[in-house]
Amino acid sequence: MLQLLTYRLLIILFLILHVGIAHAEDQHDMEHLDAIRALSDNDNDEGLKQLSKFKDTLPPDADYEVRAQTYRTLATLLYDAGRPKDAAATQEALLKLAFERKDKELIAFASLAEIYDLVEKGKQDVALTKLDDIKRSVDGTKNQELLMRIEVAYGSTYSSLGKFEPSLSHRLEALRLSDLLTKRRTQSKLYRLSSLAGLYLDMHNPEKSLETIATALELSADANSPKLIGSLYSTQALALIDLGRFDDALKSYQHALKIFKETKSIGMEALTLSNIADYYLHIGNYIEAERTARQALVKSEAAEDKTAILNSRANIGFALGGQGRIQQAMVFINGVMKELRDLGIKTDIESMLGELGRMYEKAGMYKEALETVREQQNLASELFRASTAKAVAAMQEQFDANQRKKQIELLARENQLKDAEIKNRRLQQIITMLAAAVTVMAGIFVFLLYRRVRNANEKLLEANLQLAFHAVRDPLTGLYNRRSFVDMMKTRTLASEKERREDDAGNPDCLILMDIDHFKQINDTWGHTVGDSVLMEVAHRLKRAVRDTDMVLRWGGEEFLIYSPKSHPSQLTKLVERILLAIGEKDIQIGELAISVTVTAGFIPLPFSDIPEEICNWEKAIQMADMALYLGKAHGRNRAYGLAKLLVPHDQAMNVLDHDLSAALNAGMVELIEVVGPARRKSNEIEENITM
Ligand code: GH3
Ligand code: MG
Ligand code: MG
Repeated sequence: MLQLLTYRLLIILFLILHVGIAHAEDQHDMEHLDAIRALSDNDNDEGLKQLSKFKDTLPPDADYEVRAQTYRTLATLLYDAGRPKDAAATQEALLKLAFERKDKELIAFASLAEIYDLVEKGKQDVALTKLDDIKRSVDGTKNQELLMRIEVAYGSTYSSLGKFEPSLSHRLEALRLSDLLTKRRTQSKLYRLSSLAGLYLDMHNPEKSLETIATALELSADANSPKLIGSLYSTQALALIDLGRFDDALKSYQHALKIFKETKSIGMEALTLSNIADYYLHIGNYIEAERTARQALVKSEAAEDKTAILNSRANIGFALGGQGRIQQAMVFINGVMKELRDLGIKTDIESMLGELGRMYEKAGMYKEALETVREQQNLASELFRASTAKAVAAMQEQFDANQRKKQIELLARENQLKDAEIKNRRLQQIITMLAAAVTVMAGIFVFLLYRRVRNANEKLLEANLQLAFHAVRDPLTGLYNRRSFVDMMKTRTLASEKERREDDAGNPDCLILMDIDHFKQINDTWGHTVGDSVLMEVAHRLKRAVRDTDMVLRWGGEEFLIYSPKSHPSQLTKLVERILLAIGEKDIQIGELAISVTVTAGFIPLPFSDIPEEICNWEKAIQMADMALYLGKAHGRNRAYGLAKLLVPHDQAMNVLDHDLSAALNAGMVELIEVVGPARRKSNEIEENITM
């Protein structure tokens, strides 16, 4: 965005800088004016003081060209002094003068301002038609400066359309015409060279740009125009950045900055600081970018330059964004965006969105980046639709191609991220599988060991019975352990097991996974021995809460699993409620201590929602119960979430459901049951269906 704003500021400067009328009547006054302008090149304040004095001494009937020249110079100096409002008022007075005199050439000069205005509003087609009119209206004129300025205006208009070839030929013609000038020829030539250098930059030819600047700098020794030299250094910096010569670029900027400070050109100082901030953003030094942008803001506020103020604020925003301070960044960015929207400057909003997209991308916020780029593209096509010019359509094509490339890149990044996620999940599955395999092998090993030693002697037999017991039981709680459950689940594939379940299709088995809430705190507060006792008591309470046919397992450290075969769905929530109540209703008494313990659970029937177990097996079911459990943790603990059934066909749901429960809920794929534990339960709100 910043480049657009900068570009606009440069247009304003080119418009009001460097003016002059060749055929002045009053030679003496004109010479005096020239002297003041030469002085102002070195000291803006002093030039302004003298010019104001000169203007006040002008009689009311002073030669109009002297007056015109005075107004023009005054506008330039006022702008450079950081008084854009006064500068604009002076410009208007000049326009009035032009129309009063009905002088074709003066009107043509004045009308050129309108061209830049049109270009700024994105109406390049109208601008080109008007330019043709202006050129025709002064057909045959000998006023080389006017001809030159018309060429410059053509050049700028084509540049803003991205049509660099015609722009180049007009700018070269302007350069040729500047050699024919009788006054301030060197200065004029320097301006032409400076804008040529800028054009080469636009054409992605920084080498040629540097070459042109070098020519200009050589010439500048004769011109004694430090402000102009400052501009040349600024352009040089941009070219150096393009070439990746960042250290040299910074030196050029500092050179320019020093000159603008010395010549008290506060507007240019603000612009240069802004460019330096841009540079820091470009090289990713966001701390320096922020510092410089804040300096630029102070200067542009002093210069009362609204464009520069917005530019600085945007830079501060992007600098903060680069530091990962996205929230603070958005305060600045949204502020600028709002002002741009109020002003209706869509081109700047569009480029700002581009910058914002890049910021999100850097922050790894690919979803936001994609959204922003899409919004940018919508706005861009709206902007381009607004104009019917063919030239614009061509630009659109080029722009679209770039945007499409960008979108594809972003999508690819997003996919990469998803791929990584999927890969990660697969790895996890492999790990689980390997763990299960190891467990089974251990089981087999123990069994073989057991069989072998049984044939040995009685003592060994007893010892190995113990071993076998520990292979299926958890030593602390005496509950079945995870490996015994895994073994049992393996039998599910046996034909007889299948038959059993088919006979009982209305009563699926149920898996309830539990995790003690804040168990670490219990350990941390009272020590591991107390923690162990709590685990034992929880195990005891669980066993009491379930039916004889249900199986209670210690799944992990402080995680338990209940396997409840053939549970009628209507009984399921009752069972879960009973479990939460059994654990949480009464404090656990360990010696003198009364410890409040609650659990969070996730539960699911198996088979789930009539999905064949070939598709959704017990491992997947546990995985989903685990996700439901974590949903319970996230919603305040001491509660259970259960997956009741699918609301869409399983081939639609499983891909989402097996890794992202929240997404499946949001998409209305699954019905969820919530059972709230005793501590939080209100009168009769035990069970409710929730949608999330
Ligand atoms: P949350 O409710 O969020 O799950 O909190 P938490 O504190 O329970 O967190 P987490 O599940 O991560 O912590 C479980 C702790 O259980 C960590 C571990 O030290 C402890 N633990 C695991 N096995 C045993 C055990 O056999 N005895 C004891 N005393 N503590 C155990
Ligand atoms: Mg845990
Ligand atoms: Mg826990």
